[in-house]
Amino acid sequence: MTLPIHQDPMGAAIRDFHLKGKAKRLRVLSSMFDEDEIPVSTLFRTESEMNALERQALNLCHGRVLDVGAGAGCHSRVLQQRGIDTTAIDISPLSVQTMRERGILKALHANFFTDGIEGTPFDTVLMLMNGIGIVGRVNCFADFFARLDTLLAPGGQLLTDSSDLRYIFEDEDGTFCYDGEAEYYGEVDYRMVYGSTRGPRFHWLYADFDTLAREALQYGFRAEKVLDGQHYDYLARIMRQL
Ligand code: SAH
Repeated sequence: MTLPIHQDPMGAAIRDFHLKGKAKRLRVLSSMFDEDEIPVSTLFRTESEMNALERQALNLCHGRVLDVGAGAGCHSRVLQQRGIDTTAIDISPLSVQTMRERGILKALHANFFTDGIEGTPFDTVLMLMNGIGIVGRVNCFADFFARLDTLLAPGGQLLTDSSDLRYIFEDEDGTFCYDGEAEYYGEVDYRMVYGSTRGPRFHWLYADFDTLAREALQYGFRAEKVLDGQHYDYLARIMRQL
């Protein structure tokens, strides 16, 4: 349940940028937004280029850390430089290869949901850049928290960020008008394209804090908001209920 190389557009972009210092456009097609692109250089951001939520998350990391969906490994690099025992995982084979070449000592080609991860359990699980997105759909939180429970050491924490997409559905006067049927308004489908490499369609979730906290409570965890970001985004810390 990881990506094959020929369906790994983000990894191809990361690899190009790593090897050549530049990359083509990494296009993002979605069910909710107009076509967009991810500036590939941002995946290589240094600590000083990170936003306040990310920097705070890095400062809260302790013990053995699992960086989930690590991409080019920007967070893992900072943690490793601080002497923190960090394992980076990603489903993208080209990203994992690049992380290894960038000096990440423990970079594994693995899917958070399905693969055994060496050295489990972890004191901190880190998921950043709308990290909660990999949950995919609100009705997948049960699987997500069950998996988290197998990965976290006693007293362990998940640090993750997300955004409340309600601003997309607000009138000028702030009235919330979402006409979707049963589904939650933060459920998006994406597909990435890089040159001739097209990735598979995948589900990605943006969860407002109250939804995240409610789901966490339902599955034996508790969420606290650590910090609000600048635009409907926030950093949360999730731990097992006492
Ligand atoms: N955390 C990085 C990259 C974020 S992009 C950063 O902040 O720059 C999201 C990453 O999650 C992608 O590299 C994607 O390949 C990876 N990913 C998506 N689903 C995953 C899963 N189930 N397990 C592990 N990695 C996953």
